[in-house]
Amino acid sequence: MRWQGQQLGTADAAALPGLERLDGLVRSVTTPEFAGITFHEVMAKSALNRVPGASAMPFDWTVNPYRGCTHACTYCFARGTHEYLDLDAGRDFDSQIIVKVNVADVLAKELRRGTWARDPVMLGTNTDPYQRAEGRYRLLPGIVSALAESGTPLSILTKGTLLRRDLPLLRDAAASVPVSIALSIAVFDDALQAVVEPGTPTAAARLDTVRAATEAGFRVTVFLMPILPHLTDSISALDDALARIRAAGAARVVFGALHLRPGVKPWFLQWLGREHPELVSSYLGLYPGASVTAPKPYRSWLAKRVRPLLRVHGLDGHEEDDAPRRSAVPGLAARRAVVTTSRGRAAEEAARLF
Ligand code: SF4
Repeated sequence: MRWQGQQLGTADAAALPGLERLDGLVRSVTTPEFAGITFHEVMAKSALNRVPGASAMPFDWTVNPYRGCTHACTYCFARGTHEYLDLDAGRDFDSQIIVKVNVADVLAKELRRGTWARDPVMLGTNTDPYQRAEGRYRLLPGIVSALAESGTPLSILTKGTLLRRDLPLLRDAAASVPVSIALSIAVFDDALQAVVEPGTPTAAARLDTVRAATEAGFRVTVFLMPILPHLTDSISALDDALARIRAAGAARVVFGALHLRPGVKPWFLQWLGREHPELVSSYLGLYPGASVTAPKPYRSWLAKRVRPLLRVHGLDGHEEDDAPRRSAVPGLAARRAVVTTSRGRAAEEAARLF
């Protein structure tokens, strides 16, 4: 099917098996502009996802306009969420994208409720809000406007350079509500980035986005994570990354080692066996069985390596696990602040909120 000539309200009989579990499926769409990708457009019934009170997530509310992500990071924590739709956590996660086409309208209605307390809302907890599809669907402007008009603080975490499109809008929003922006940049070696995060913009392009957001007046956080054992954890790699982050004008850095969650580990190890077979046994040693995080000694070793480099480059920063569940970030200090940290852990829980 092509984009042109599509009418909302017609279901596509060619929709994938399993998508009958998606309430509100309107149509499934392919286009030459996105070769190999199918967008499944749905009419969402709700937009705001509440995070359970006991959750480790550092915020109470999320909005996720997309499920699946064409950025296709091999290590993506959210892969397992596609299995809830009877889609697989590998190629389907990268290529079968669920689009909540009415998310901004539904959100605006929810924000008008008298009970809405204007708690901060996080965008980008589960899949990337500025993935390539956003260039076509343009859902974020409506979401940002709805949040700002309702007096709701917001925080964005992305690998997408498309964020630059919305900087004027975000700057306007920041005049009325706290707005926090974070870019995720984990791999600064272009050859490695092209195979481990094949759908993402280059590190240089993302650093340009950090620069543009900084020039627009934001204090931008860079998530230097996940740091990949034996691939991106050398002193020279970390030094290069932090020097470039600093040069781009970022205000602070959050770093952390790779997490490998159930649903992700098999796909990541498959990739590793193909690209770096010499590292497979080492990774199996670091992430044995069902273990999700690298062992404490590795994380301590990594922190001892990164912290002095942060100081050398004059960067504020901390390890993902160092932040309290709720602490202030610039621009959100006056409210219950969104802490832009622990994305992997947070996202795992957010996945259950769809
Ligand atoms: S950008 Fe984020 S959500 Fe998208 S594939 Fe990569 S890690 Fe997953």
